[in-house]
Amino acid sequence: MSTSRIDTFRAQCPGLSLSTDPGVLESHGQDWTRFRRPDPTAVAFPADNTQVSDLVRAAIATGMHLVPSGGRTGLSGGALAASGEIVVSMDRMRRILHEDPADRLLTVQAGVAIAEVQARARELGLYYPVSFAAEGSAQVGGTIATNAGGIRVLRHGMTRERVKGLKVIDGRGRLLDLNRGLVKNASGYDLRHLMIGSEGTLGIVVEATLRLTEAPPPSRVMLLALDSMPVMMTVLAKLRGSLRLSACEFFSVGALELVCRSFDLRYPLETSADGFLLVEFDVPAASEQHIEEQALAIFDEMLERGWILDGVLSTSEAQKRALWRYREAISEAAAPYTPYKNDLSVRVSKLPDFLQDLTTLAEARFAGCSLLWYGHVGDGNLHMNVLKPEGEETAAFERRCKEASEAIYRLVRAYGGSVSAEHGIGLLKRPFLGYSCSEEEIELMRGIKQVMDPHGILNPGKLL
Ligand SMILES: Cc1cc2nc3c(=O)[nH]c(=O)nc-3n(C[C@H](O)[C@H](O)[C@H](O)COP(=O)(O)OP(=O)(O)OC[C@H]3O[C@@H](n4cnc5c(N)ncnc54)[C@H](O)[C@@H]3O)c2cc1C
Repeated sequence: MSTSRIDTFRAQCPGLSLSTDPGVLESHGQDWTRFRRPDPTAVAFPADNTQVSDLVRAAIATGMHLVPSGGRTGLSGGALAASGEIVVSMDRMRRILHEDPADRLLTVQAGVAIAEVQARARELGLYYPVSFAAEGSAQVGGTIATNAGGIRVLRHGMTRERVKGLKVIDGRGRLLDLNRGLVKNASGYDLRHLMIGSEGTLGIVVEATLRLTEAPPPSRVMLLALDSMPVMMTVLAKLRGSLRLSACEFFSVGALELVCRSFDLRYPLETSADGFLLVEFDVPAASEQHIEEQALAIFDEMLERGWILDGVLSTSEAQKRALWRYREAISEAAAPYTPYKNDLSVRVSKLPDFLQDLTTLAEARFAGCSLLWYGHVGDGNLHMNVLKPEGEETAAFERRCKEASEAIYRLVRAYGGSVSAEHGIGLLKRPFLGYSCSEEEIELMRGIKQVMDPHGILNPGKLL
């Protein structure tokens, strides 16, 4: 961009911190994906809502494009700025603005990290249930823009369930104050929900009012080695019928072995298996002994029936955390292998058949690549990561994966599923949106984009 254009932009945003430092452009111009080189013109660090509004107006006046950016932990390239855009970082908007324990609401700026929200909720004797491995860096704005899920969806739902109010700067620079923390509000279209999951293409989230919930009771974790993949849902149904589950995660032996190798961890069980189920369930103090006996009885029954081969039940908080580590560390362990991520979902009941068909297809299409399988099976959400073979060029690998993806997404469509369960469409999944949404839906989305961002300055080329 010419110097005069950025100078004009700067002049229209008095007091705005704007960096063109190469290190900042590199760090803030990308998310966790590594398929494109970041190349933004500048990174803006607004300190308040007025500065966000000013910079949107300056972008309109100068024809600049903006990429809203949170903790940059996204897995679909949504926060990638590779075409001279201005990145809008929320790093300076990190204040907790208002606490309302009576309404169980917490109002925060968009740049507050999820782990901070969780910590504040705990101090208030409450709980913020959106939780996943990147919660230390992922921000409130980013999780709202992607409608993040994570490990507690089974009981508490996605981020959408938590958002009771939103302040957003739209594509004309106007501040919208949506729903204002109300439980009930039937006055017209709920624009708040339109913003949730819009991946920075309709507006920039500047503040959110989040609904907290009661603190969870004590819990235990059970890790089970499955006899076979098809038996997974039978095991889940059995556990669900007798225990109050708060999480149910799956991972393949390949994923487990990679985590053990990458972080020098001991293999958690004595028997190996193709796949593992990790469940967490409530154990209220008053009924601790009863529930423990019940869990062990179910465990024995599943062993006898041949559904599981081995397992372990946590006996302390430290062991619980240690067992979770095997699941939570998978993304980090895979990261050095430039994983091509699939984040698929189908109805929970269809998962076993889908998994079987998908395995056959993936093994044929990705010959020579390691495949890691894991996911939030209690929600019908499967992550399939294809690891880049050593020495293969990134662009060639991405091309190969995209070609193979067509077949995978055809299968997803046949099952009535989604090509993005919780990571968003971003840049990487954009060519495949049509496998989850009809032409009519996409046409309506384009119309909404045109109304909310008529100048097309917000995250162009993403999602649509
Ligand atoms: C190790 C690891 C584990 C993960 N596990 C999960 C998981 O279990 N479940 C899950 O759902 N996700 C998971 N993710 C993905 C990621 O953490 C989430 O998508 C998260 O919501 C991204 O938040 P962020 O603040 O990092 O957003 P970013 O990556 O910075 O941005 C994501 C998108 O949101 C937009 N955006 C960011 N801030 C704003 C804002 N203020 N206003 C408008 N748009 C904005 C960006 O333009 C981009 O399109 C994981 C990621 C990692 C690295």
